[in-house]
Amino acid sequence: MARYTGPVCRLCRAEGRKLLLKGARCKSDKCAVNKKRPAPGKDPKGRQGKRSDYGIQLREKQKLRRIYGMQERQFSLFFMRAQRMAGITGENLFVLLEQRLDNVVYRLRFASSRSQARQFVLHGHVRVNGRRINIPSYLVKPEDEIEVQEGSKNLVVIKEALKEFGKAGVMPWLHLDPDTMKGKFLAVPRRSDITDLADIKEQMIVEYYSK
Ligand code: SF4
Repeated sequence: MARYTGPVCRLCRAEGRKLLLKGARCKSDKCAVNKKRPAPGKDPKGRQGKRSDYGIQLREKQKLRRIYGMQERQFSLFFMRAQRMAGITGENLFVLLEQRLDNVVYRLRFASSRSQARQFVLHGHVRVNGRRINIPSYLVKPEDEIEVQEGSKNLVVIKEALKEFGKAGVMPWLHLDPDTMKGKFLAVPRRSDITDLADIKEQMIVEYYSK
């Protein structure tokens, strides 16, 4: 499936939730979700037909896939990998998604959105344990050190992201030293630690792929 290139705020309106795809704008009054504009194609008065079980499961999967900015094929490969792991598939899926290097770069506040983090990784601005890694789906392990490449530390866009978002701190499984632009992935998070995505019902996604 081709990468979506249309207006991304439309995706949030369709899912009825902030997917945080536009960095600083997502936290501002300009956010289309804050303005409570109706979802594309929806009745402006809020009347809507009943969704099928499949429709609900599909929407849940699309929401999570779009939050992490992944193509369908890669997302389904992550799901299959989660299925092969010991434990609960839905929780494993979250753990794998959180370990993606582009996500870790975003969570460490080096980028204002996951898509920007993906670009940073692709352009070689990020090192893991001293080695330049340009694969956004690279899985970070506990104790790995993630840092902005020495020559990229003066990039205004990275400094601004750290300044804008760094104040909020980082998730508990990460450590950040904003002065040196270095971070550490301390441990694999549990599903319950990923509080900003607590509303996503991973069981629906498991049911979607079980069909
Ligand atoms: Fe979604 Fe961000 Fe656009 Fe708001 S500003 S609708 S959160 S992409």
